[in-house]
Amino acid sequence: MQKLAELYSGKAKTVYTTDDQDRVIIHFRDDTSAFDGQKIVQLPRKGMVNNKFNAFIMQRLAEEGVPTHFERLLSDNESVFKKLQMIPVECVVRNIAAGSLCRRLGIEEGRPLNPATLEFFLKNDALRDPMINEYHIRTFGWASDAEVERMKELTFRANHILQALFLEADILLVDYKLEFGRFHGEIVLGDEFSPDGCRLWDAATRQKMDKDRFRQDLGNVIEAYEEVGRRLGIFL
Ligand code: UDP
Repeated sequence: MQKLAELYSGKAKTVYTTDDQDRVIIHFRDDTSAFDGQKIVQLPRKGMVNNKFNAFIMQRLAEEGVPTHFERLLSDNESVFKKLQMIPVECVVRNIAAGSLCRRLGIEEGRPLNPATLEFFLKNDALRDPMINEYHIRTFGWASDAEVERMKELTFRANHILQALFLEADILLVDYKLEFGRFHGEIVLGDEFSPDGCRLWDAATRQKMDKDRFRQDLGNVIEAYEEVGRRLGIFL
């Protein structure tokens, strides 16, 4: 497969068109950003770690019936994906209270959430990704009702699969964000799944092993991602 032109460059990944109009090559860069792009740093190995982490998770999800855009690893920093028409909505599932939920609702961090809760955010950096609801999605036509139902179903199916996967590695899946797109009429999981887009705590010590290490200047960011990868069997 041949890489053609740069299609889009986001905060951490660059997307390239290919000689197949239904496929893109995504390059995972070492750039790390937080607070809607206000804090940007380069972290060595991060692109490679997230590319391989994402490949592993997407393959596991696909095996369990969650359609994903991932096709194959191409190199340390690049993979081939189906080209989706992205839906500008972030689906966030929370199993344990953390982050913006605590700030918004005054809930103490670490409180177990039963049942797990789901929130939608509009993907819009200029507006700082505001929280939205299903009525907004319908009114503004970001997705159809059937698509919203499918995104909810797949987001919770992923929760079931991933909670178990991480727990086997003595890691709590606190929360995570998924993005979906359309591929020939089907709703498919897009974007990436890596410690950049979820919260992972060591089950015994509750130590943070995700992007909060970067957001909160806790240090050893990529070392923590690699430790998660080692426990899952992705890295040696
Ligand atoms: N998240 C993300 N991208 C975003 C916003 C959130 O990947 O633009 C992830 C974040 O890493 C966490 C979950 O979604 O795992 C919930 O984030 P939250 O709403 O608590 O926001 P934050 O505290 O990160 O601002």
